[in-house]
Amino acid sequence: MCSHHSFLDGLMSHGLLIDTGIDGLYGRSGAFEDVISRFDELISGFGGGDNAEVVRFPPGMNRALFEKSGYMKSFPQLAGTVHSFDGDDKQHARLLEKIDAGGDWAGDQSATDIVLAPAACYPLYPAVAKRGALPPEGRIYDLNSYCFRHEPSKDPARMQMFRMREYVRIGSPEQVIDFRKVWLERGRELIGRLGVPFDVDVANDPFFGRAGRMMASSQRDQGLKFELLIPIESVEKPTACLSFNYHQDHFGLLWGIQTNTGDVAHTACVGFGMERVALALFKHHGFDTRAWPKAVRAALWG
Ligand code: ATP
Ligand code: ZN
Repeated sequence: MCSHHSFLDGLMSHGLLIDTGIDGLYGRSGAFEDVISRFDELISGFGGGDNAEVVRFPPGMNRALFEKSGYMKSFPQLAGTVHSFDGDDKQHARLLEKIDAGGDWAGDQSATDIVLAPAACYPLYPAVAKRGALPPEGRIYDLNSYCFRHEPSKDPARMQMFRMREYVRIGSPEQVIDFRKVWLERGRELIGRLGVPFDVDVANDPFFGRAGRMMASSQRDQGLKFELLIPIESVEKPTACLSFNYHQDHFGLLWGIQTNTGDVAHTACVGFGMERVALALFKHHGFDTRAWPKAVRAALWG
């Protein structure tokens, strides 16, 4: 392996990630995408037997539903909203002048009805609520979407636009807790096949502000979030590559999702950071996928 100033430099000089001039926003090469799709297949191999309903949302969601989700209360620092110009000729001329002068032209646009999805599952819950009460077996969904989070960083594993594959379970507390238990086990087995070091630990979401610190510690105390961590950018601070979240009745109450017995539904999701897992593989096995260990190649390419 050759040495580089940083892992990000190495990824770029090997053409795996393509610089856009913005930290956390990269193009991906064919080789990088091949790893992502092979990993995607591997996930399906583990989850495919559950008969999850496949749903794909675009990376934008309904702003009104996003507002109702409470995301701005908890994570205002991460949200991204879509704005657009809707003025007349005069306002257009003023907009162009500002751009020419290198000025701030954002105020000459207004918010559209679309915001960027912060996680693959956000658009799902209101859509499920609309379908009415759950069947006795509850529901399970298979999602995958590009997500946006405003957290620019030189750490290639902290992107602003990245893909999240998710399985989401909606049902009784027992069904949902069982789902998370099963996936905690599957997650270990799945990542174990990739020949990278990992650990599973309790975690919390990056809730904003002082009230957020209390929410984070209560989330930890209740063991509602676990992460499967792999060292990528640093050994001391390994990166969350899979997340296992139990929301209790939070989304069920918020969106009015009912079980077949009329109780508030519980929800849980397992989220796979697609780029993070690909980066972990490049980190531990090198920039050339053809030189990866046989067992790892077999797990991915069969
Ligand atoms: P972190 O603690 O590193 O900020 P998170 O706890 O906010 O991550 P989740 O909200 O649980 O992450 O998101 C689900 C999955 O999406 C994570 O397990 C991770 O693999 C991936 N992910 C989250 N943020 C990013 C990011 N900025 N870049 C790439 N992948 C990400
Ligand atoms: Zn999170």
